[in-house]
Amino acid sequence: MTSTITHWIDGAPAPSTSGRTAPVFNPATGQQTAEVALASVEEVDAAVASAVRAAAEWGGASLSKRAAVLFAFRELLHQRTDELAAIITAEHGKVLSDAAGEIARGLENAEFATGVPHLLKGGYSEQVSSGVDVYSMRQPLGVVAGITPFNFPAMVPLWMCCNAIACGNAFVLKPSEKDPSAALFIAQLWKDAGLPDGVFSVVQGDKESVDRLLEHPDVEAVSFVGSTPIAKAIYETGTRHGKRVQALGGAKNHMLVLPDADIDLAADAAVSAGYGAAGERCMAISVVVAVGEIADPLVEAIKERLPRLTIGDGAAEGTDMGPLISAAHRDKVADYIGQGEQSGATLVVDGRADHPDDGFFLGTTLLDNVTTDMSVYTDEIFGPVLSVVRAETYDEAMEIINGHEYANGTAIFTRDGGAARRFQNEVQVGMIGINVPIPVPVAYYSFGGWKASLFGDNHMYGPEGINFYTRGKVVTSRWPDPATSSVDLGFPRTR
Ligand code: NAD
Repeated sequence: MTSTITHWIDGAPAPSTSGRTAPVFNPATGQQTAEVALASVEEVDAAVASAVRAAAEWGGASLSKRAAVLFAFRELLHQRTDELAAIITAEHGKVLSDAAGEIARGLENAEFATGVPHLLKGGYSEQVSSGVDVYSMRQPLGVVAGITPFNFPAMVPLWMCCNAIACGNAFVLKPSEKDPSAALFIAQLWKDAGLPDGVFSVVQGDKESVDRLLEHPDVEAVSFVGSTPIAKAIYETGTRHGKRVQALGGAKNHMLVLPDADIDLAADAAVSAGYGAAGERCMAISVVVAVGEIADPLVEAIKERLPRLTIGDGAAEGTDMGPLISAAHRDKVADYIGQGEQSGATLVVDGRADHPDDGFFLGTTLLDNVTTDMSVYTDEIFGPVLSVVRAETYDEAMEIINGHEYANGTAIFTRDGGAARRFQNEVQVGMIGINVPIPVPVAYYSFGGWKASLFGDNHMYGPEGINFYTRGKVVTSRWPDPATSSVDLGFPRTR
């Protein structure tokens, strides 16, 4: 019998009562391994009600108590990385080392959040006017929700929940229904770390639960990461219901390679960042913009590397690239390869040809002579497909990159410091790598793209995460001698 993956409400697994479920697969075998509950409105309401009760108490917990829980959580996550990585690989398909890598990057956020006593320090100005002092403080919002994508089932929830909880909020997570088990493992770790029941909850589900979270009067803020059409809809619906929303969307990340770049370094980077996690990363490189005469040798160097990649079950030793998340997604990516070929791109390597038969596999695809009007260029494919666009000059390349609707990440490969500096100033993209192909910022900076890659004003985690999960207050204080008091109808001025 298929097991059912439950919710986590009030500090314990909560079996579903909705009667609705979705299948969960091991993408490496194509076999269904479980089913996941899909929450009803009533189940979401139960999770939020528990979170409201928990937030009232947790918001008043001392900073040292909150930091102590974060330290304990960080230790547990570190100790149990291998177990969590195996859970991720079994439902997502990425290779074990990659799953461990996403946990390590998520763990950085727990480490950052242990510094919450420092992060929530306000400002203090003495004697701003005669006998008047001013200081600021940041307070929790209450109940906040996170809605997360399939491609990072641990890291993205950790981007959100560590800071949200450290700031004194209760956090309700709605993970992807495609790989829902990591969220429950994380819930257990929070409990083991001493977090009070209800401060971290999980509602498994689909649009129905998301819609309820977006309109629930007790949810103060929503963090979303996923595809652009859903991110935009979440932002519009959430803000219409008066919530603070940060909604991170899709990507098409360009890697600009200048003629002076080291070919091997650039080719290694393009292959690693293009095909790692089968291209299912929001910071994956999906377009190489090759400037001038470097294009031919670069395409050759990338092509030469592809047969050396081992494609297979992510849980098996020595695998470089696992399967895609679902059969439907694999077919969609394969269809894009056909569209690229039909629209005139050169199919240098065809990933539809060579891959394991079981499961949701696709091989690596390399398309050359891609132009900006082709769907393989305009659309986010989210698979192991790398397109090469050729440009005559740096200026032409910059125009191409800045002309794309997505603006999550980008990278430049060059030995020219001046060109790199010009690039970082001119490119209209949120996260930039200089000879670094996947420039995911460390946890003490913030993560976010521009244009159609982010809706909202706050990037995720880091200092902007702390801002997002707190509300500022400024106190103006005076302790006058009552004997000096008088009525004064003028607007208060400093003096
Ligand atoms: P998705 O948009 O399909 O789903 C994301 C979340 O939204 C899931 O929890 C899903 O259940 C929910 N959802 C799906 N359809 C919905 C609907 N109609 N109404 C309400 N909720 C809905 O994204 P995905 O396929 O899980 O993830 C891949 C996408 O996420 C890619 O586009 C990728 O670029 C993006 N992504 C972006 C970042 C970033 O930081 N910008 C990071 C990771 C992934």
